[in-house]
Amino acid sequence: MPRIVLENADLFDSINGTVISGETLVIKDREIVWRGDNSSFEKEENDNIYDLQGKLLLPGLMDLHIHLDGDFADIMNMEAMIMRNKTSMYGYKALKNSQEYIKSGVTTIRDCGAFGKNMHSSLRNVLDRQMFYGPRLLASQLPIAQFGNQEAFGPDHYLNADKTEETYSGVDGIIHAVRDRRREGSDFIKTMTTGGVLHGQGSAVDQSLFNDDELQAMVREAEKFGMHVAAHAHGDTGINNAIRNGIRTVEHGTLISEESVDLMLKMGTYLVPTQSAGGFIKSIPEQMRKMLPPEVVKKANEIAGLMIERQLVAFEKGVPIAIGTDAPVAGEHTHTAKEMQLLVQNMGMSNIQVLQSATIVSARAIKRDSILGSLDVGKAADVVVTNKEVLNDITVLQDKLNIDYVFKDGTLMSKKGIIEFNSK
Ligand SMILES: [Zn+2]
Repeated sequence: MPRIVLENADLFDSINGTVISGETLVIKDREIVWRGDNSSFEKEENDNIYDLQGKLLLPGLMDLHIHLDGDFADIMNMEAMIMRNKTSMYGYKALKNSQEYIKSGVTTIRDCGAFGKNMHSSLRNVLDRQMFYGPRLLASQLPIAQFGNQEAFGPDHYLNADKTEETYSGVDGIIHAVRDRRREGSDFIKTMTTGGVLHGQGSAVDQSLFNDDELQAMVREAEKFGMHVAAHAHGDTGINNAIRNGIRTVEHGTLISEESVDLMLKMGTYLVPTQSAGGFIKSIPEQMRKMLPPEVVKKANEIAGLMIERQLVAFEKGVPIAIGTDAPVAGEHTHTAKEMQLLVQNMGMSNIQVLQSATIVSARAIKRDSILGSLDVGKAADVVVTNKEVLNDITVLQDKLNIDYVFKDGTLMSKKGIIEFNSK
């Protein structure tokens, strides 16, 4: 394979939060093999050279909280989703949805809960082998949920047809659950330490789930296999339990207290604010409101207003913030750039800080920063070429026409939102 040379560009140094002008980046096979000033680049025969004329190079963007097997249309009509689709259908939906991310410059996604048992680990392998274009995928597959709490809504026969979670009790049950996911090829573990908003009438957002010994067993067993644990958590007691017991990423963190913020700093925990989903829950569209039981709407109204002010304390005290949308809860897949805009607007993040969140900070959160998150030699060649204007206006990333090129693992995947890929 000839080398790919991205020359005459500005380069975003995500580790230092700076921009270096007049850079050239060289890709060989799947890796970045050279980076330096234009003037010191040595051309080789057969090099495939892109003269970028001052465009900006970003590390591939990341979205750490999505659910690939649903569309926004499914969220708006959950009965149809559950009644009309068999498990395999979710696999095809997941493939299609994963592919959309590439066009937006998102080259790594973390699926935080899926229906099929080994569906997404297979999808990950298919994408890694470049049988289809698509991003790097980390799969949790079925979340581990506490017995008797995380019911979805709908009658029993829906739930038994395709459960969104499996439930376990006790340390032995948890250890088995983690090993079972490992066997099915999961990359990490997703759990819930509180109830959820859309999870059902009896699933209270301030209900704390799992005992300390169960959470400790989950984290310990996951780490043995090189997996981290992500916890959905709204209420502060459940948030605090997750952090205290060594969970790596807190998802939502809606009602987080200052005490829990301090504990996050001590434990090195990451927050994935999912503000797109929070905003959606705050103003649920009428069509969906009609479908939901009044108790669920009441829950949504109660918590959504507090999310931004509580999360702001975490950001201001220095908790590392990673990017996650919870798509498709708040809209069609690939509104990752919109989430970045919300963090700038609501938290006062600078454009540089939010670009760091979407790259190196997210890579650290999932413990992949040795190969992802910055444009350094030896790392995977996940590169986005875009307009420099993004440094002044983060919304530039929301228009695919501004995403000039997307490379994943050293392969050109898309050009201005159009796919440029031949399967291997
Ligand atoms: Zn979620």
